[in-house]
Amino acid sequence: AKRDGRSIFRYYSEDLTRAANTRLALESRLRRALDEGGFRMHYQPLVCLRTGRILGAEALVRLAVTNGPPVGPGEFIPVMEDNGMIVELGRWVQREVCRQGKAWLDAGYQFDLLAVNLSPEEVRRGGVVEQLRDVLAETGFPPERFEIEITESGLMQRGEDAVEFMHQLKSLGIRLAIDDFGTGYSSLSYLKRFPVNKLKIDRSFIMALPQDQSDAQLTTTIIELARNLGLRVLAEGVETAEQQRFLAARGCDVYQGYLCSPPVPPERFEQAFLASPRA
Ligand code: C2E
Ligand code: CA
Ligand code: CA
Ligand code: CA
Repeated sequence: AKRDGRSIFRYYSEDLTRAANTRLALESRLRRALDEGGFRMHYQPLVCLRTGRILGAEALVRLAVTNGPPVGPGEFIPVMEDNGMIVELGRWVQREVCRQGKAWLDAGYQFDLLAVNLSPEEVRRGGVVEQLRDVLAETGFPPERFEIEITESGLMQRGEDAVEFMHQLKSLGIRLAIDDFGTGYSSLSYLKRFPVNKLKIDRSFIMALPQDQSDAQLTTTIIELARNLGLRVLAEGVETAEQQRFLAARGCDVYQGYLCSPPVPPERFEQAFLASPRA
């Protein structure tokens, strides 16, 4: 029995050691990527459900695959939130997207907006408003074409502060969207007081459309809620023409999803989705 206990302990601790090593390896890879320019932005088209026009893109960060297995943001963002690297990453993301967007505008490409994600942890650590003001000024990217996506749960944690924070962001002249809408604990009274422009319906509600009755009902309700509040509404993760038709018929404004395109590198986005300067 004694020997069993010891060997169980040994296996358990080997597992822990392995997990800690993997985590350390990932953290040093992320550190290196920040120092050596190892992050890339990909762009996923936002499609008008009424006209089919490409309105712009959501920018999503990628870790370049140099000497390591592919790791997605769903895996590395939480690590960077944990160790504080998210602040530096966020600064890079905002600057890179504004730089790229300005270059596209200067080249004569047309689009309405580029959206970036803001982690609640970046917000908690502070300085976001000043940083964004600097980035917009330095790059010359027009604020009215810049959208910030914040998750509902990230906002609700901050209660009354969140209302104040959103107003500060808004005063920069940018647009605000609530990300993953429907998955957090939204308080409708807060929603009314947030100076937001758009709700993004979480992919989990869209996936089983149109067959799933309760998802169909919930989605319809969210679209109506948004319209009643005078907000734009976007559906995430649209993969089929059936989903697109369902959403369009209910008055949803915009969709995003594999039906149009996955997130793609900037050269590809420009070539496939941005109106030609000479058009
Ligand atoms: P999110 O903001 O909800 O982004 C949408 C995610 O859904 C993206 O995953 C996108 O590739 C994926 N997606 C889009 N359309 C479809 C579809 O039709 N089907 C399916 N199955 N998936 C679809 P991605 O790029 O892996 O990003 C995951 C999450 O990581 C994001 O979720 C966001 O929370 C976070 N993230 C990504 N980039 C950044 C960033 O630059 N900053 C911060 N703070 N977070 C980011
Ligand atoms: Ca998002
Ligand atoms: Ca989302
Ligand atoms: Ca999400």
